[in-house]
Amino acid sequence: MICERSETCPFFPKIIQGDVDKELEKMYRGNFCYGLFTRCARYVVFKVCGKVPDDLYPNMHDMATKLCGEYTKNNK
Ligand code: SF4
Repeated sequence: MICERSETCPFFPKIIQGDVDKELEKMYRGNFCYGLFTRCARYVVFKVCGKVPDDLYPNMHDMATKLCGEYTKNNK
């Protein structure tokens, strides 16, 4: 399964840039975008909140929980 946002996710063009980060991109894409994307912090926040900060990394699960909690609290 591939994440529905794999072509449009702004994380890679905006945050993961340049040759130095190519390995990092490969790792994130393999672990999340083309793998367990439902465990991606960005995916979860997007699904719950409808938007996600560009600079939220796929493995920032604590921040994802916080953002989802705040969104849910403010949109009851
Ligand atoms: S970083 Fe997360 S939200 Fe973005 S394409 Fe990959 S799995 Fe989907």
